[in-house]
Amino acid sequence: MKQFQFVRPATQQAAIAVIGKPGTKIIAGGTNLVDLMKRGVTAPDKLVDINHLPLNTIAPTKTGLHIGALALNSVVSENKTVLEKQPLLSMALKAGASPQLRNMATVGGNMMQRTRCTYFYDTTMPCNKREPGSGCGAMEGYNRMHAIFGASEKCIAVHPSDMCVALAALDATVIVSGKKGERRIPFTEFHRLPGDHPEWDNHLAEGELITGVDIPDNNFAKNSYYLKVRDRQSYAFALVSVAAALEIDNGTIRKASLAMGGVAHKPWRLTEAEKSLIGKPVSEETFKQAAEIAMQGAKAYGNNAFKLKLAPASITEALKHAAGLV
Ligand code: SF4
Repeated sequence: MKQFQFVRPATQQAAIAVIGKPGTKIIAGGTNLVDLMKRGVTAPDKLVDINHLPLNTIAPTKTGLHIGALALNSVVSENKTVLEKQPLLSMALKAGASPQLRNMATVGGNMMQRTRCTYFYDTTMPCNKREPGSGCGAMEGYNRMHAIFGASEKCIAVHPSDMCVALAALDATVIVSGKKGERRIPFTEFHRLPGDHPEWDNHLAEGELITGVDIPDNNFAKNSYYLKVRDRQSYAFALVSVAAALEIDNGTIRKASLAMGGVAHKPWRLTEAEKSLIGKPVSEETFKQAAEIAMQGAKAYGNNAFKLKLAPASITEALKHAAGLV
């Protein structure tokens, strides 16, 4: 591993002053970055340790819940207010990684984790995300884990997070801070689709630090569910995952929120399927119709063709669980 400088700024302002410089990376839990460094996928000159900054608050606000960027995944998933008001987030967090990793991983780091595409980690293979212009090993290669929505000719990778799928469904907002001050980004607009620049995962500007996320209050607590389909029961990334949240009044759906993981370069919000659910009775038929709508525009790349069947079945199943039908 290349030698690097390690600095620990005393304040958020001091951290922001150094993080925009070329070759500089922020480190918090390090659960992804250290792997990337060991494998030579990234080789920073300087690591900026932000672990001691006071950004781990989990507290109600006037309109919802604030979670600091350095709050640990394990702590958030067991927080009393999260369990009561945003159980979908707790379920998604508990579906991610392993207990050991959740004890280290932070909310901000979870958002910044990089794809687990095997070609991205194998520095002997072409990968436009790791080395722009080198090609995409997965396009004609082993692409079982890859995207069925929003991919480009340059990259078909998926975002690996579970937490982010729930936060997208919950209409969270990302709070970032930089030299020009604070900025708020809707969660669904934080991560990017690959387009011509798969090397860019998100819309965080150079020198900006994620300080937290805000989740607005909702009435989804009683009827929400996170379904994760994976190759083994624990410590595996999603083949397909679904965050489903419903507001139900006397058997009729008043509000619906749906997002998928494991299918796109970003958490994939299913807005048309959500609209189709409003005013409909709670039933398996209603959910199957929504799943069909959600799949419009899906495209497989070979090994991942099974996702074209797995995804709608997972949407239906997640909605059944959220509605209490199973
Ligand atoms: Fe790289 Fe994306 Fe292709 Fe994977 S899918 S090899 S990350 S360009």
